Amino acid sequence: MKKVFGIESTAHTFSCSLVSSIDGGVHGQILSDVRSIYTPPPGSGIHPREASRHHVEVAPKIVEQSLTQAGMAMDEVDAVSFSAGPGLGPCLRVGATVARSLALYYKKPLVPVNHAIGHIELAIMLTGAKDPIILLVSGGHTLITAFSFGRWRVFGETLDLTIGQLIDQFGREAGFSSPSGPKIEELAERSSNFIPLPYTVKGNDTSFSGILTSAKKLLQNGKDLESLCFSLQEIAFAMLAEVTERALAFTEKREVLLTGGVAANRRLQEMLSEVSKRHGAGFLVVPKEYSGDCGAQIAWTGLLAHLADISVEVEKSFVKQSWRLDRVDVKWRD
Ligand code: AMP
Ligand code: MG
Repeated sequence: MKKVFGIESTAHTFSCSLVSSIDGGVHGQILSDVRSIYTPPPGSGIHPREASRHHVEVAPKIVEQSLTQAGMAMDEVDAVSFSAGPGLGPCLRVGATVARSLALYYKKPLVPVNHAIGHIELAIMLTGAKDPIILLVSGGHTLITAFSFGRWRVFGETLDLTIGQLIDQFGREAGFSSPSGPKIEELAERSSNFIPLPYTVKGNDTSFSGILTSAKKLLQNGKDLESLCFSLQEIAFAMLAEVTERALAFTEKREVLLTGGVAANRRLQEMLSEVSKRHGAGFLVVPKEYSGDCGAQIAWTGLLAHLADISVEVEKSFVKQSWRLDRVDVKWRD
C-alpha cells in the first residue's frame, strides 16, 4: 500500500490531503482532505498576491490538520506531490515551496501534478469511469477531453473566459463575493424568463466574453437579476452541451464524465445527462465534495504518477502557470 501527501494551491484554495492506494493503484482511499479557501471581499475577484498571502498564513495549520485527520506522520508517506500548474504564479509558488521543504526534510520523492489532470483522475477514481469523454468546467478550465495514445487530447476548449470566470465575473458585477456559482444557480432556479444573450460556438470551441459583456450591460440597465442568471446559465450550458455532444458523437465513447467546480450545477448536469442519454452513453458526475479544487486531486494523481516512477528534482521543480494537460505524457494510463 502506497501513501502520498498532496498539496493544492493553484488559485483560491490551499488544501492538503493524504491518499493511500488499494488494489495496486486502481482504487484509492482518501485518508484526509483539509482545505482553506481565500474569499475576496464582495464585488471583487481573486487578487493573486492576496490569495498567496492567505496560503502562506494557513499552510502550516492545513499540513498539520491533514496529517492528524489521516492519523499519520510525514515520515510514513511514500511521496509528496504538489500542483505545479496551471494556475496563478504567486499561489502556485506557495504550494511548491511547502512541498519542496517537506520532500527535502523528510527525504521523499517530489511529484509534480498537472492540476487539470488532478480534477480528471480523482473524478475517474470516485465515479469508476472507464474510458469517458470528459467535460472539465472550473475557474481555471473549460475543455472537453478524452484519453488517446498516452495523452489527454483536447476536443474543444474555451477561446477566452472559462465558464467559472463568466459566472464569477457576472456575480462580481451583481455584488457577490467569488466564487458565486451556487448563488447564481439559486437565483436562476427562481426564473424562467429567457433573455437572449450571445451564443458563440466556433468549430468545437466556446467563447463566453460576449455573454458577460451583454449580461453586465443588461444588469446595469435594470434587467432583473434572476432572469439574467437563468438566461446566462441556459445559454452558456447549452453551448457546453453542444460541443460535448459533438465530441461524443465523434469519439463514440460510452460514458460522459462531468468534473470541475461548475460540475456541481444541477442545470448543467441535467443538460449533459440528456445529451448522454441521446447517444446511449452513461452519465457520471464527480461527487460535489470533490468537484472544486482540493488536495485529494493532487494526492491521488501524485500517487498514480509515483507508481509510474515519476518525480522531479527539487532544483528543477519550477511551477508552470500555463501548463496544458495535453502536454503531459500520462505514463500510468494505457
Ligand atoms: P474550481 O476552480 O474547480 O475550484 O471551481 C470553482 C468554480 O466553480 C467557481 O467559478 C465557482 O463559481 C464554480 N461553481 C461552484 N459551484 C457552482 C454551481 N453550483 N454552479 C455553477 N458554478 C459553480
Ligand atoms: Mg480547478
